[in-house]
Amino acid sequence: MEEKERIYNSLVDIVGEDFLSNREEELYVYSRELGALTSNKPSYVVMPKTVKEVQKIIKLANEERIPIVPMGGGSSLSGLALPIKGGIVLDMKQMNKIIEVNEKSMYALIEGGVTLGKLRSYLEKNYPHIQPLLPDSVPSATLTGNVIVYGSGALSQRYGLSSDQINGFEVVLPTGEICKLGSSAVSTYWHTKASLPDLTGLLIGWFGTTGIVTKLSIKLYPNPKKRDYIVFNLESIDQIPDAVSKVIQTEIAEDILSTSQEEPAYMRGMVLLVAYIAGESDEEMEFKKRILADALKDEAQYIESTMLGSDFRERFFEKPGFAAWVSDIRRGGGFVYCGGFMPLEKIPEAFRRTEEISHKYGFPYTTSFRVVGKGTVIFFPPFPFNRADKNDVDNAVSAMHETDELVLELGGVPWKPDIHVQKLIMERMDKNTLELMKKIKKLLDPNGIMNPGNWEVD
Ligand SMILES: Cc1cc2nc3c(=O)[nH]c(=O)nc-3n(C[C@H](O)[C@H](O)[C@H](O)COP(=O)(O)OP(=O)(O)OC[C@H]3O[C@@H](n4cnc5c(N)ncnc54)[C@H](O)[C@@H]3O)c2cc1C
Repeated sequence: MEEKERIYNSLVDIVGEDFLSNREEELYVYSRELGALTSNKPSYVVMPKTVKEVQKIIKLANEERIPIVPMGGGSSLSGLALPIKGGIVLDMKQMNKIIEVNEKSMYALIEGGVTLGKLRSYLEKNYPHIQPLLPDSVPSATLTGNVIVYGSGALSQRYGLSSDQINGFEVVLPTGEICKLGSSAVSTYWHTKASLPDLTGLLIGWFGTTGIVTKLSIKLYPNPKKRDYIVFNLESIDQIPDAVSKVIQTEIAEDILSTSQEEPAYMRGMVLLVAYIAGESDEEMEFKKRILADALKDEAQYIESTMLGSDFRERFFEKPGFAAWVSDIRRGGGFVYCGGFMPLEKIPEAFRRTEEISHKYGFPYTTSFRVVGKGTVIFFPPFPFNRADKNDVDNAVSAMHETDELVLELGGVPWKPDIHVQKLIMERMDKNTLELMKKIKKLLDPNGIMNPGNWEVD
């Protein structure tokens, strides 16, 4: 029997015909993503429903030496779930059960394909007093994908990156064994990673090259009754590091974001610093606003949310996706952004140089960043492009790559780097660190089947 037919038949035996495809038009869809990058088509797409099925698919991929690419929502915008070398795309969306919500120990145990939208709406309906991490990403993105790419969101100033907000994983290793990482390795509770060696790092940032997450425990937080924001309009981008530091010092804001952009025209020249606050009562909210206003009273124009026109308010703040509404400025449905984790003091230079890069490639200039924890910031300049215009698509990729090089030059680390930028990172990386990565990959994935092309150390 021909190889293709043999593999197809084996996959039918594992997942059934309804959850498998080798149809050209569907394979085509899996060779594209929301961003500007494309890849080879996979040979098969499978949607497993159980851990056992995942194990069997991995076993088959090892026997046949065929690549296997885990995919969540496929929304990384840097091609991280594209089948660069073909093979099997393992679409995790059928593994979408919310297994347990523990209100006392404040975690949710979910399957590896649960989306942000599903968890959020489930909690809103059944546990309105509890909230999960809140990336502004698309609802179809998965929690696992977001954790693996070091995502961030509206609670990241307070609780850190999405990758900091987990208690453990269940994974299927590239050699097929099921492993529990975190307290579930020794207990029936999934409430902590302590005090075991932290093996979750073998998955985070590895972009599906070291195993398949089939379950994860996500931390939960109280959901405050009231939310609001205040905006500071700074005179210059040079004020950003000091102003942001002062806002961080208050320890009052839930989330701190900044943006500077030239579209729409009324935004030109503004350098906005937005502090989101939350609380239980009007008194608490007023108190928090007063402290924040006081922190920057000598250097910035202070604007309360109620002082902004409703159009501005709605477009900017009341819908999730701070920068997302600039995403279709070209009317062509294309949008990419990467950027990176930056030292706060480098932000003015990063903003200036991104403006140059944007104009060089014909894009309106937009830069934004979000504070993560108490110091570092995630800097994310978006490039909206027209999918129907090949030149525009190429320009978006070039602008994204040039920004990533800028991030490296300024002492930052590119966020969710695509394979081109992964190479740039590895060229600059400490040689012993690179060697360690190589050993880990070889040990975990001796046949090199997992998402090949990514973090290719050899
Ligand atoms: C409009 C828009 C706004 C966005 N805003 C934000 C934002 O505010 N914050 C933010 O953090 N991100 C944001 N993003 C980026 C991206 O959507 C998120 O990072 C998203 O959470 C990635 O999840 P995903 O399920 O789409 O991952 P995918 O793209 O499917 O996968 C990401 C990586 O994880 C691997 N992977 C996925 N599932 C598994 C698994 N089960 N086991 C092992 N490996 C796996 C994949 O192989 C891939 O390497 C945004 C994207 C868009 C399009």
